[in-house]
Amino acid sequence: MKLRQSNLNKLENTTFDVLIVGGGINGAVSAAALAARGVSVALIDRGDFAGFTSQQSSNLVWGGIKYLESGELGLVTKLCGSRNRLIRAYPSSVREVRFFASIEHGFRRSRFTLFLGALLYWVIGRFFTKPPRLLSQADIAREEPRVAPRGPGGFEYSDAYLVDNDARFVFNFVRAALDHGAIAANYVASLGSQRDASGMWSTRVRDEEDGHSWTIRSKVLINAAGPYVDELNAQNDEPTRHTHVFSKGVHLIVKRITPEPRVLTFFADDGRLFFVIPLGPVSCIGTTDTRVDELPPRVEAADRSFILDNVNKRLLLDRPLTEADIIAERCGVRPLVVPKQEQGGTVDWVALSRKHIVEINESDKHISIFGGKLTDCLNVGQEIADAVTDLGIALPYPNRRWYGEPDDSIRDEFFHQAKLMGLDKLTAKESSEQLSTRLWRRYAASALALLDDIRQDPSMAEVLIKGTEYIRAEMHHAAQREMVTKLSDFLRRRSKIALIARTEEIKVAPGLLDACEILFGPLAQRKLDEYFGPHSVTAHPPAHATGFASGQGTLAASPSSHPSTSAQQPSQAQEPSSPQSSSPQASRQASSAGRLARS
Ligand SMILES: Cc1cc2nc3c(=O)[nH]c(=O)nc-3n(C[C@H](O)[C@H](O)[C@H](O)COP(=O)(O)OP(=O)(O)OC[C@H]3O[C@@H](n4cnc5c(N)ncnc54)[C@H](O)[C@@H]3O)c2cc1C
Repeated sequence: MKLRQSNLNKLENTTFDVLIVGGGINGAVSAAALAARGVSVALIDRGDFAGFTSQQSSNLVWGGIKYLESGELGLVTKLCGSRNRLIRAYPSSVREVRFFASIEHGFRRSRFTLFLGALLYWVIGRFFTKPPRLLSQADIAREEPRVAPRGPGGFEYSDAYLVDNDARFVFNFVRAALDHGAIAANYVASLGSQRDASGMWSTRVRDEEDGHSWTIRSKVLINAAGPYVDELNAQNDEPTRHTHVFSKGVHLIVKRITPEPRVLTFFADDGRLFFVIPLGPVSCIGTTDTRVDELPPRVEAADRSFILDNVNKRLLLDRPLTEADIIAERCGVRPLVVPKQEQGGTVDWVALSRKHIVEINESDKHISIFGGKLTDCLNVGQEIADAVTDLGIALPYPNRRWYGEPDDSIRDEFFHQAKLMGLDKLTAKESSEQLSTRLWRRYAASALALLDDIRQDPSMAEVLIKGTEYIRAEMHHAAQREMVTKLSDFLRRRSKIALIARTEEIKVAPGLLDACEILFGPLAQRKLDEYFGPHSVTAHPPAHATGFASGQGTLAASPSSHPSTSAQQPSQAQEPSSPQSSSPQASRQASSAGRLARS
């Protein structure tokens, strides 16, 4: 909380080279790329960082195999390059995973043609991953007995996934920007920006926590508001040549379907790729692709039945999945960029491949970021640094590396120290991986400070919220360095507790109040009430989410060997009190519900 308050003070009293509005992946990488090169940067988001689209992805870092069918070789080459670069730069957190694809009789392409496509994909990806494999029906039956025999076989190929989750991946860019001097704050909304006579941007902003408003001045303004880019540009009278159309994507979370650490891949009834992605004790199934106009998107009954029907047809389960089996739902929109004149719908929907466009208005010193993918984030960061330079902002350290895990010497030092102090012996028994592996992946060089904390006080290595992997030292770290402003910021985005455990399980988990006391001090109970109270979405689980027996009886995060994805608290895309879903005043109303047992 102190970090946020100190940044709010600086946002009021500094004139910045660049103000970035929107802390999803596009805003976060922009801040990281600019701050590391010595530009003075402010970053604001009216919700939490990654609290909108960037927490709703499939968590895949992929080269766009499906765009081969539309002949977009250039795009596939670019995305495979971005994928390989991310795997190389983040070996602990972006990892290769196998996709196990089965083909049905009568599908528009033969199994062999699709296998040749996978081979081409591997070649375009410069042989960076394991080679693809042709699968017979007997191979599928032997290796994935849950897959229904509906065709001649299939093929296996590789892409990558985010081991923690998309939101954590985004936050690490925000953290990197902070480390290089950026001033960032969550729950600060832009109310609109104007250029004054001197050519400076004045942006009126409001602290969504206390309603206080003020003005931030900057030489350049970057609109990274994701699906809200058009709305913000309209508010600021900023003309653009591009605009967004929205494709809604829904995922359903159910109990783990298959133990193997691979992504089951099908072609759904609409001919699109459809995945069953393992996530610790659960599986994440999806996604849909429907054009919508309204924000925020909502899960409709038709989305649920599309996903359930498709998965039931293609898997051999003890009984078909029904709405009663849904543990959680996730829903977001892909912001797809189109030239303004094509907005009416003349363009091919599938061909609206997920490119990004950085549109620069030189005379206004304004940049809008349209579209994009998590996978392409390093290119966005680089393009923004180039664009800002073109707008006359000097980069004092133009060649400074702004992304990637620390170099091997720091990594070796961390693991050396961890070994000397016997850290892995302190790994909790419910943990899916060694403590040292997880701490390094989540905190990189900052993990050395956690070792120091544990050396000084061994209780710092105790798991605090029972059933999770998160230790006391991590709570202190999150409180000091991760700008946890609401409980959902920690449960849903900095950690993945809320991605795999039911709200009811989290609510009664021993140690949760202790964790909140570390995170929020005297505000602990208020933050708990805010999360579990009557105004939160968790207080109103959908009918289908009730009466479902507990999963594995653990809140442990997914094993590192298992691909992960992000989940959402039941039935809603937004946080209970995020600005997109309710007023800040409403979110602050305390309730007496949701008392937690102390550990
Ligand atoms: C279902 C689905 C699956 C996907 N799967 C993948 C995948 O597997 N791999 C992949 O690479 N990509 C995937 N994507 C695409 C990727 O998730 C998005 O392209 C990306 O997250 C968009 O990031 P963004 O920063 O542009 O937008 P956002 O994450 O939406 O960020 C914009 C931010 O701006 C803030 N904001 C808006 N207005 C204001 C304002 N007035 N003041 C302050 N802040 C404001 C919002 O609160 C928000 O946090 C998927 C997308 C969807 C929907």
